[in-house]
Amino acid sequence: MTSLDDLPLRANLRGQIPYGAPQLHVPVALNVNENTHPIPPAVASDIAAALAEAILTVNRYPDREFTQLREDLAGYLGHGLTRDNIWAANGSNEVLQQVLQAFGGPGRSLLGYAPTYSMYSILASGTDTRWIPGGRDADYELSPETAARWVHETSPDIVFLCSPNNPTGTPLSLATIAAVYDATPGIVVVDEAYAEFAPDGTDSALTLLPGRERLLVSRTMSKAFAFAGVRLGYLAADPAVTDALRLVRLPYHLSALTQAAAVAALAHTGEMLAMVDDIRVQRDRLVTELAALGFLPLRSGSNFVLFGGVADPHAIFAALLAEGILIRDVGIPGHLRVSAGTEAETSAFLAAIARLRPLAE
Ligand SMILES: *Cc1c(COP(=O)(O)O)cnc(C)c1O
Repeated sequence: MTSLDDLPLRANLRGQIPYGAPQLHVPVALNVNENTHPIPPAVASDIAAALAEAILTVNRYPDREFTQLREDLAGYLGHGLTRDNIWAANGSNEVLQQVLQAFGGPGRSLLGYAPTYSMYSILASGTDTRWIPGGRDADYELSPETAARWVHETSPDIVFLCSPNNPTGTPLSLATIAAVYDATPGIVVVDEAYAEFAPDGTDSALTLLPGRERLLVSRTMSKAFAFAGVRLGYLAADPAVTDALRLVRLPYHLSALTQAAAVAALAHTGEMLAMVDDIRVQRDRLVTELAALGFLPLRSGSNFVLFGGVADPHAIFAALLAEGILIRDVGIPGHLRVSAGTEAETSAFLAAIARLRPLAE
């Protein structure tokens, strides 16, 4: 057996650690911000019927342009978008990787505002793009001034803005996005993986697209749509951007089965998103009840909450796991992250952490 160190690995991948949120089978899994509600049985059977039909023609390559899916995603997003504005891939992680393949690469750089989504730096190293971990303001907020100052100081080729930010849950203002766009001649991506969980009346970065041809807004069906296992992410941008992504995508990258499942799910958007309100209630409950227990939850516009005031995050993480409750130690000192689950799952977590409270002090 040889080891990784013996292989002729590219220099910038040496010593890197792969993405590895634990995948454990536990009764209460609140660690990767999935939608813990299963999709409604009637919708599931419609999707199954669409898959049964699609399988009959898999001897042929799928529609390389996933035309129907782009049409339906444009319809879902609204804002006057058409299918020419839409791109999709196997999860928004793949969409973001394609953005880096097209606009990043050797000699180019990507600015993000740490702590932020852990995949950004991993995608940067995979595409040999230099990762610049910018900073944030107090309580992990990001003001237009701070965001633009990092752009001016580092002159990145690409900026990733996570809105709301993972792992902190903190929302991002449109003013910050506009300030970053104005500060750079490069590509600006707003990752709106959790957009559907925002408070009512929150404007999406989609409203900023007109006239901003270097602005890309990425979304996913993994979270609000309860479709993490299917792998479907997408973005909206100027049609020239989607043309750029055609230069780097693998031909037929979206399988016929993925396309069929996503199209069938989008035909049931109302039912698929019915659980979002429940999840927002549980998210707000986490913030209120964790604060009442003496923890320091951050404001959240997503389906998870980061909370501080935890003296020994690892001890609490391990004690919860021993009770069959999996949350996330994201490596921020004094903090842990928990996803909003069903009412029963959220109650189980809150009851357990209330009992463990003395351990946290
Ligand atoms: C979960 C998540 C995604 C989604 O990734 P998929 O590849 O679409 O499953 C993207 N961005 C952020 C910030 C996330 O937390």
